[in-house]
Amino acid sequence: LEPAYQFMIRVRAAGGVATAKQWLQLDEIANQYANGTLKITTRQAIQMHGIVKWNMKKTMQRIHEALMDTIAACGDVNRNVMLNPNPYESSVHGKVYEWAKRISEHLTPRTRAYHEIWLDEEKLYDSNEEEEPIYGEVYLPRKFKIGIAIPPSNDIDVFSQDLGFIAIVENEKLLGFNVVVGGGMGMTHGDKKTYPQVGKVIGFCTPEQIVEVAEKIVTIQRDYGNRSIRKNARFKYTVDRLGLTFIVKELEKRLGYSLSKARSYQFDHHGDRYGWIQGVNDTWHYTMFIQNGRVKDTETCKMMTALREIATIHRGEFRFTPNQNIMISNVAETEKPRIQAIIDKYKLTNNEHMSPLQKSAIACVAFPTCGLAMAEAERYLPTLITRLEEVMEEAGLKEEDIVIRMSGCPNSCSRAPLGEIGFIGKAPGKYNLYLGGSYTGERLNKLYKENIGEEEIIHTLKPIIHHYAKERAEGERFGDFVVRNQYVTKVEDGTQFHD
Ligand code: SF4
Repeated sequence: LEPAYQFMIRVRAAGGVATAKQWLQLDEIANQYANGTLKITTRQAIQMHGIVKWNMKKTMQRIHEALMDTIAACGDVNRNVMLNPNPYESSVHGKVYEWAKRISEHLTPRTRAYHEIWLDEEKLYDSNEEEEPIYGEVYLPRKFKIGIAIPPSNDIDVFSQDLGFIAIVENEKLLGFNVVVGGGMGMTHGDKKTYPQVGKVIGFCTPEQIVEVAEKIVTIQRDYGNRSIRKNARFKYTVDRLGLTFIVKELEKRLGYSLSKARSYQFDHHGDRYGWIQGVNDTWHYTMFIQNGRVKDTETCKMMTALREIATIHRGEFRFTPNQNIMISNVAETEKPRIQAIIDKYKLTNNEHMSPLQKSAIACVAFPTCGLAMAEAERYLPTLITRLEEVMEEAGLKEEDIVIRMSGCPNSCSRAPLGEIGFIGKAPGKYNLYLGGSYTGERLNKLYKENIGEEEIIHTLKPIIHHYAKERAEGERFGDFVVRNQYVTKVEDGTQFHD
């Protein structure tokens, strides 16, 4: 007898997209082989949980039949390339989407091992004969994350990426991208040599240069990343150890040309905008709130059934946002009433009954399916937010949002160090409370209280929220207010995160 080991499978696609047909296939696979739910992740991928070992191969093959895959959704390679989910928002969004796909394809490992192991492809080469032109024989020291932001939305949290690009647009024309290096959210509790970091802007490249710039940065990390201490292996530590001047010089040497001077840009927010919008192709796109990205049927909300019903009539796509929500994309004007009728039938018109606090919050998976979790996140955050909603209402802030991020461990998959309020799990029911991230995702927060439970969280935050309600400057966001009022010191750089 063998223990029924369970696994998680992650399906990736640059910018997070599945056709309606693929969605139906994912739904079917999740119900047949996983725990009957689908999780939209903070990197616009889809996770399925609870797949027992002997169903792994069948599940991978079914995913392949749906023309999707899990290649490089994990491992020490480039992961899913993140991007604003709607390529139809403007012609620039469409162009940037094409570049994101090209980066993703270019950096996908060439090995056929995946096909041989999971899809029973005939073994054509010895592993010694296979060539990985970018990753080489030993791949990267650690995973690598890339994202492209299109201002004013920083929904992909560009400063949290190992390598980020900020689209520079003038008169609706894509001029190119600012290049951002060395961001990353993870750390280890109690180890000050590990810390979250925000990426730094090092210059500007044209659209035609972006794939090459991405490749050369990846090879710098391949050659200079720390392969001795895994906790310090991410690119952010390479950048901090060698310095930006070295990284830029090395990049320009490998490129054979210099980056241009970075251009100005401005972000307004790093959340999602809900409801219908019309795209440049005249079709409609509906962003739907999915609590913490978990698509499932409950007694009060038949989300999985509703999306299945939409998928059976929908001719466009489902797009996954970096805040774990779903966009029903490419809906023709004539089809919109039918989709809206299903949204109404299942009461998915989230915009009406969910608070702004709830809609801005994200939590990682954590218990029961993440083996690294130290505390609850996805299953607990809604409860905590319900209590915080009462505080917000008392303070007269019912209609306002504060960006709250909760992670079950310091790997911070929900990008908790960028929340205006961040919670990072320490033990069951206990969290470190961080304050002072910026509303646009450009500044890290800072530890305010350590290892506290729900009552102390409410007790701690209540007076601060009331203070904010009374004395904030016009338009001042919560994260900026707590820094200005010295609840926490401003974190200019991740190396000061623990000071
Ligand atoms: Fe798991 Fe930690 Fe990531 Fe949450 S932050 S999903 S607990 S690894």
